[in-house]
Amino acid sequence: MSTKSGKCEHCNAPLGHGAIKCSYCGGINDVDLKGHYFTLHEPEEERICAGCDQVMQTLNIRSSEAPFYIERCDNCLGIFLDNGEIDLIINDHDKLVHTIDHIRLGALKEIPRNEAVKYVKCPVCQKVMNRMNFGDSSGIIIDQCRDHGIYLDAGELQRIVSWVKQGGLRRNEQREALKKEDFQWREVFHAETRSQHNYDRRAQSFLRGLGNFIQHLWS
Ligand SMILES: [Zn+2]
Ligand SMILES: [Zn+2]
Ligand SMILES: [Zn+2]
Repeated sequence: MSTKSGKCEHCNAPLGHGAIKCSYCGGINDVDLKGHYFTLHEPEEERICAGCDQVMQTLNIRSSEAPFYIERCDNCLGIFLDNGEIDLIINDHDKLVHTIDHIRLGALKEIPRNEAVKYVKCPVCQKVMNRMNFGDSSGIIIDQCRDHGIYLDAGELQRIVSWVKQGGLRRNEQREALKKEDFQWREVFHAETRSQHNYDRRAQSFLRGLGNFIQHLWS
């Protein structure tokens, strides 16, 4: 996993904490698909890498019986996933999650991002993509085109999977549930203050009426 330091697959130099680019030889280490099975395929349509403008490759990361195609750049190892594909990938991992590892989730968030803020173009439509924090709280900033999918820099798919495995999605669910509960409490509170308010108004007008009456008596 990416929070461990490893060795560069090109020159064997030690890699920095969570790093994918070797600071000695400049080589990019494939952490996303390292050890994963995949085959290369003829692309259906040309996709241009958001990271470096090269034509991306089409990879099947499952099997020939149940293929699952993704696009990846051979040059910078960026990955493009069509809409919905990331959900299919992380749902598989999320099913295995039973505990939330808050410490490891925190550690994942601490991995420094080397790149400066950079807006990139969608590999399909070439429109500038939106930057978003994956899962709202992961700290993994990905590029998204609403119409076509998401672009991940090298190493980001692996980080997303680590985040899911350590309970990131579960923690979000919990937070959502708490928010909902809080919201319901607030609704009750509002309803109560509303009726209190109405009571105050009635009481005030009653006293005012009384005042008029008393004034009338004394006048
Ligand atoms: Zn190296
Ligand atoms: Zn690229
Ligand atoms: Zn697009």
